[in-house]
Amino acid sequence: MTYDCIIVGGGIAGLQAAIQLGRYMTHQILVIDSGHGRSTLCRNYHNILGWPEGVSGIELRKRGKAQAASTGVKFVQDKVIKAVRHGQLFKLTGEQGEHYEARTLLLATGLMDRFPDIPGILPAMGRSVYVCPDCDGVEIHDRKTVVMGSGNPGANMALLLAERASELIYINHEQKAVDAETLMEIKNRGIQYIEGGISRLLEEHDGMIQSVILEDGTVIPAERGFIAFGGNQVHSKLAEELGAKLYHNKHVEADARSRMTSVQNLWVAGDLGVHAEQVTVAMGDGAMAAISINKVLMKLGKAQETPL
Ligand SMILES: Cc1cc2nc3c(=O)[nH]c(=O)nc-3n(C[C@H](O)[C@H](O)[C@H](O)COP(=O)(O)OP(=O)(O)OC[C@H]3O[C@@H](n4cnc5c(N)ncnc54)[C@H](O)[C@@H]3O)c2cc1C
Repeated sequence: MTYDCIIVGGGIAGLQAAIQLGRYMTHQILVIDSGHGRSTLCRNYHNILGWPEGVSGIELRKRGKAQAASTGVKFVQDKVIKAVRHGQLFKLTGEQGEHYEARTLLLATGLMDRFPDIPGILPAMGRSVYVCPDCDGVEIHDRKTVVMGSGNPGANMALLLAERASELIYINHEQKAVDAETLMEIKNRGIQYIEGGISRLLEEHDGMIQSVILEDGTVIPAERGFIAFGGNQVHSKLAEELGAKLYHNKHVEADARSRMTSVQNLWVAGDLGVHAEQVTVAMGDGAMAAISINKVLMKLGKAQETPL
């Protein structure tokens, strides 16, 4: 079947777009999602309107999916591995060889933070270990905090957070070089610097860490953590295949108002397109794209009805 719109990525941006598009009650919408994104990792978002106690990404996604499905939006679990333009249609291929096609396409495939598989890190994500200083800098206020990272990205994160924690330690887990000037600033600002591998995080309860254990057995007590390993992967491959323009950092360029890319009838939303990588920004972005997609679909619909 040819869908009016396919949304690739059923995270925060994709779901908000699906809810908005579904509510027009006139379009055939399909969301294709591979099931693993930043919103499946974060155990608690604290900075969202209406959720003062926080809400997990899994819970938001569960609710978002049910809300979109109630308007008739269809969902399929698959990973899209190929996207081509064929005339006026977008043709997609899933990893099991499934084919999908649509008149308009919204990519909301996000990005993924790079971090090593350190035991204890996943259950702490968003609960006591964070990635985004704008979202969670406040959580380390007056608390003993470790930045777990690699080379300069970790060092720069530590400098950003320096004034917030009661005590800050930067553990350069991958032991990559830090610029001499940055290292000097780290020391001048009273940040403890350790070069050494982390073997695991010890949890006190429910994702709240109590210490970081180094490979040499050293125990570093810590109440909170941040990660900054650098090398995050922006999922822009499909957009690139379709010829969309990318920024130097691999995010996809899009019109500020419509969120349409440089390719006609191809939109992006969420972390894939914006640099303020936050839930509420992804929601707004998804909604803006959906409003624009509806306008285009209305025009396409009318054009089809006009006799030649
Ligand atoms: C640990 C952590 C803590 C965070 N804390 C906060 C916070 O406190 N506050 C805040 O505002 N933000 C926070 N964020 C950021 C927030 O999670 C993201 O900004 C948000 O998830 C972006 O939504 P998105 O829809 O763009 O991407 P995602 O939520 O990552 O969704 C992208 C979806 O696309 C799917 N996908 C990717 N490629 C394909 C493909 N080829 N085919 C099919 N599906 C595909 C993935 O499976 C995924 O479900 C945090 C992020 C992390 C990792």
